[in-house]
Amino acid sequence: MSYKAVDQLAVAGRRVFVRVDFNVPRDKGKGASGGAKAIADDTRIREALPTIQYLLDNKAKIILASHLGRPKGRDAQESLEGVAERLAELIGREVTFPEDCVGDAVKKLVHEMREGDVILLENLRFHKEEEANDPQFAQALAQLAEVYVNDAFGTLHRAHASTAAMVKHFREKGIGLLVKKELEFLSPLLTKPARPYYAVLGGAKVSDKIGLIENLIYKVDGLLLGGGLAYTFLRAKGEEIGTSKLEPEKLHLAAKILQNAKDQGVPVYLPTDHKVSDRAAQDAKARVVKTIAYNEMGLDLGPETVRRYTEVLSGAKTIFWNGPMGVFELPAFAEGSSAIARAIASASEKNEAVSIVGGGESLAAVHMSGVAAHITHLSTGGGATLAFLEGKELPGLKALEM
Ligand code: AMP
Repeated sequence: MSYKAVDQLAVAGRRVFVRVDFNVPRDKGKGASGGAKAIADDTRIREALPTIQYLLDNKAKIILASHLGRPKGRDAQESLEGVAERLAELIGREVTFPEDCVGDAVKKLVHEMREGDVILLENLRFHKEEEANDPQFAQALAQLAEVYVNDAFGTLHRAHASTAAMVKHFREKGIGLLVKKELEFLSPLLTKPARPYYAVLGGAKVSDKIGLIENLIYKVDGLLLGGGLAYTFLRAKGEEIGTSKLEPEKLHLAAKILQNAKDQGVPVYLPTDHKVSDRAAQDAKARVVKTIAYNEMGLDLGPETVRRYTEVLSGAKTIFWNGPMGVFELPAFAEGSSAIARAIASASEKNEAVSIVGGGESLAAVHMSGVAAHITHLSTGGGATLAFLEGKELPGLKALEM
């Protein structure tokens, strides 16, 4: 598939609609006086700055649009107002923030724009038509601009009005610089990874990642599993897992994947010891065991597993990691994820391995371990990164195909 990037589009003097991912984490609870909740982390806004700066330097009129949270209709707490303010600080210029993303007032505003003006539309999800990929709503959005750019990597796996239906109204369209960077790092994982290539997968649920695991078997030189999802695989091999996370309906598929891997000669590494407790709670005490008792749950990798995984990763030339190796939010069960983050960083430093970490929770584990600077690429994608590596067609990309 081939796409144009924003730097190949004619943008000077034209209204450019940029779909960004400003779905920022916010403080918990209600916003002050019922208004928008405060931004907890502005990384996603910063990530869109290269594209915005490019468009400013090239004299475009910039119309930014994003979703935020999961509002059911208009909801002041899910407003992008605070995001507009933070963006204005970051780019050092005024950001016009209309009350809606479509309608006559917005149309009038965009037609009065001058080169270098920036507008951030209100939350797209205030209209249920956004997620429904509604053609009329898509047309209303498309009428605002002459050029379309998608720089919201984290939403490319969704067919929504702003990522899919509106795009067909544009001849001049392409990906933003963030999406371009993501594809530059992720595409080689599907086509020509430097070998050996290992994937480390963890996190809570098998069901979220089973498609990816199935596909990775045919791409990697080894698969290292941890976190909650490892227990369904251990159970499928007949091991005792006590009260550890189990998805019984996936046992059959897990067994099939293990068999496929064996047939392909691809090793699947599973924990051989565990940090267990009777509950996942702040006051839970960790015990290291090789065999899990009926009333205990596995909550992190044990030290022997950490050593084995570290050893395997030390020879890697490419590593992809998604999903923590344990309940890392609890300090007693954070060491497995920290150790894996350090092992990946070390392979990157010593072997010049390409290391790619995707997904919010694994990124948090990388930051917790203080090794973020040594990871080749921290993917912003989450679900989109997984869908891409699973080999699925991403509707947001498909729409931009030339
Ligand atoms: P995900 O969003 O799928 O990457 O899952 C992240 C979550 O998985 C984190 O909140 C962890 O607490 C959780 N998790 C990791 N290991 C385990 C485990 N052994 N048992 C239960 N939950 C786990």
